[in-house]
Amino acid sequence: MRQQYSSYDECVDFFKSAQISNPNLFKVESIGKTWENRDIIAVSITKNIDTHLDKPALFFTGTIHAREWIGIELSLSFAKYILEHIDYDPQLNDILDRSTLYMVPCANPDGFEYSRNHFSFWRKNRRNNADGSFGVDLNRNFSVGFTPNKDTTSNVYSGPSAFSEPETAALRDFVISHENITIALDYHSQGNVFFPAHNFIHEDAIDAVDLNLLAGNMAEEIKKESGREYGVHMGKPPVHLISGSGREFYYSRGALSLVVEVGTRNISDYKEHMSENIDENLPALMFALTEVNNYKKENALPRVDNFIATDVKSKEVELSWGYPGHETVYFEIYRSSKKKGFAQTSNRIGMTKLNTYTDKNLKSSTNYYYYVRAVCKKRHIKSPYAQVLGVRTHPAESMFSKILYPLADKIGYVGEKTKKNAEHFGNNSMFVGISESKGECFGICGFSLTTIPMNAIITSASISFYPMNRVSVQVESYGEWRVGQIDERTIDSTSSFDDIKNAKTLSYIDRPTGSAQLAQGIWRTYTFAAQEISVLQKSLARSEALFKFEGPSSLPLDRASQLMQWDIGYGKFSGGLTYRPKLDISYTVDEAKLELQSSREFTALENEIIDNKLLAGYDKNGNKKYSCIEFDLSQWPAMDNTVISNAYIELEAIDINSTNKIRFHIEMIVPCDGEKTYEKITTRDIIERIGYDVSVADIKSEPKQRFVFDTYAINEMVENIDNRSKAVFVISASSHKAILKNQDVTFMDSKRVKRPSLIINYIKKRRNAPDKVENLRHIIENNIIKLEWDIPNDDGYKGSIVVKNPFRVPCSPYDGQKLYGGIDNYTYDNFGDSTVHKYYAVFSYDDVPNFSEPVSIELNSEVNR
Ligand SMILES: [Zn+2]
Repeated sequence: MRQQYSSYDECVDFFKSAQISNPNLFKVESIGKTWENRDIIAVSITKNIDTHLDKPALFFTGTIHAREWIGIELSLSFAKYILEHIDYDPQLNDILDRSTLYMVPCANPDGFEYSRNHFSFWRKNRRNNADGSFGVDLNRNFSVGFTPNKDTTSNVYSGPSAFSEPETAALRDFVISHENITIALDYHSQGNVFFPAHNFIHEDAIDAVDLNLLAGNMAEEIKKESGREYGVHMGKPPVHLISGSGREFYYSRGALSLVVEVGTRNISDYKEHMSENIDENLPALMFALTEVNNYKKENALPRVDNFIATDVKSKEVELSWGYPGHETVYFEIYRSSKKKGFAQTSNRIGMTKLNTYTDKNLKSSTNYYYYVRAVCKKRHIKSPYAQVLGVRTHPAESMFSKILYPLADKIGYVGEKTKKNAEHFGNNSMFVGISESKGECFGICGFSLTTIPMNAIITSASISFYPMNRVSVQVESYGEWRVGQIDERTIDSTSSFDDIKNAKTLSYIDRPTGSAQLAQGIWRTYTFAAQEISVLQKSLARSEALFKFEGPSSLPLDRASQLMQWDIGYGKFSGGLTYRPKLDISYTVDEAKLELQSSREFTALENEIIDNKLLAGYDKNGNKKYSCIEFDLSQWPAMDNTVISNAYIELEAIDINSTNKIRFHIEMIVPCDGEKTYEKITTRDIIERIGYDVSVADIKSEPKQRFVFDTYAINEMVENIDNRSKAVFVISASSHKAILKNQDVTFMDSKRVKRPSLIINYIKKRRNAPDKVENLRHIIENNIIKLEWDIPNDDGYKGSIVVKNPFRVPCSPYDGQKLYGGIDNYTYDNFGDSTVHKYYAVFSYDDVPNFSEPVSIELNSEVNR
């Protein structure tokens, strides 16, 4: 089987012959010698090869880890692809006219050959450490963050000093002498994940958005090709940081730099799997090549700034931004439902020359993330991206929304062979699936439902988990991960493996996730279907809901692990609140009904006002007769805490004295002051028409008629009657005939028994945000930033959300990193760096939630940005 893979010599020969047959496109050079005296080759590919330094470039490195053969194979396939397509593919020609591709197909030739011929799982190079051991982990031997490690036998031995190895020194020299490199991709295996470079602190750098989007866009290309989902994971504290890697060195030289972890194994044991991995990565590489031009170090197009949401409604978001550049540009706007999304034609929502854009027809209570970049058509160049903007649309009119998190003792996992299952809760990751050492493993996640009112009617729900590492999922396309709600009454202890294994599952949520879709670093959301919602609805009465997360329950022959690791949002292995599982519930509540009968009725005729009578139509001269109806609103609920879901007026015709030529409609009017007169009624001030017209024929077939308010009419009614004690309506006739005489309909009996009624269905719901918190301040406590604030004296206040953003004042509770949500008056920024410039904002909320405007503070404003 190994013979199917290229040897290092075959790889070198291939590129040398490519150079011979395509001397204007390929250049091969040796950039150094290994300990075993092999040439480390670098390949340059561009049109008019002599101009390669004049064009922005992509830098590809592969197989720096000996056993990760994908790098060398992918570079060969990419070169073959270019050779096969260069004669006719216009896009490829355009790309290679404007950009250069550099590839070091194998950064560790000695180790690679050792892995191929002697020991498959060899990782390091072949330095003789002179103590009987061999090898340095080349990807720990770069200078940025270099950490000495005395254990020469370690698989991650970093070497005697930074750049002590000929291989890393060669890469260093190449990168320093090629300042045109703007994107660097280092190919490894395994994990199906992109790892963007980081800045060693827990605050995003200005180009983190570009790194995430480059990775997200490449992941999207892979998904289009094979359906496989790659994750995007920025290694940030408290996650263990690797030190001295090539990625951070290239990043320090000004290149957007990513590690790409391909596949599910170090060495594909079946060539077909590797070839699938290669095929899906080619379009991703092509995509990266199209981006190198946009990240030129000199004369790049400036980034859009001040990108904020100026208005957020339940179905609409209004965006605005500024632009610091002087060139003529237009803007591309992208919308993603995920925080680490992508920006491609398929999710581009607008192109405009303006500095604002309104995104319409959105879903309520839904998170959206926006990206924007400038485009200069003349220069054929795009800008880096503005900082990502996060918002959540408001709940719809009569809806509430609640995001619940598990308490620490309700989130964890139980393993068949793990001894201390109780200690996994609130204190470890959630392992789901199966491995030889842990046995079968189930995740457990329980939520208290006490903050949701008993009369809630759940209309939608979803549960989300954050996949933090898939390295232990080692088998390609094997197993499914699914979430089920279990009956907590069928178990005694959530930390008992047997109890959880045998618990009664009430419903499975959504579709299961296949192993190819376990993308680490990208939230996985399971959406409840109607049947699953009804199960959740029933658990409201029990005030809790318990979920079990299950994976494959057996392993294929000879395989040791198919175990997925999810963040629980607690404990030292976790990223904290930002990564805690969540249950997102939208609900409405039982409606109350208010039925008012009219308090006064009169008919306005040309010469008189007749009380206690409702006549509408035409008199003997063809003048209109108007029916006027008043409702006394003294029992009306206070509008600032009420939402009317529907409203209608009911009328009953008592006497019909008309041919079929008349139609009637109802108007809500502004009450007229003083004595009623025909003159005042004919010149009435109409607020809104209510419902549809009815004809005499309609009334004959059904004397009782309903006039239903549309949403606009409801809003008009609420606004107009807020400060008045009555609502007034007029029934008016119309006809397509020029003159009608002596025709009318009577809408009330003489004893006023069948009076008109105004009926509303409404719920209690706050319409306005609670007061803001006050006196937001920060102190440094044991080198950790602590934020404190004073809680407002407002009955509607239910808590506040604290958000951090290094670039601007957060414009919404979802615009940045969420640090806290709850009723306390303080929080810590546990991993935050106290010397970095940034903003914190506190949004107070009620039970809807309506969010207040932010109260913000700026830290380290003097620090150079
Ligand atoms: Zn590696």
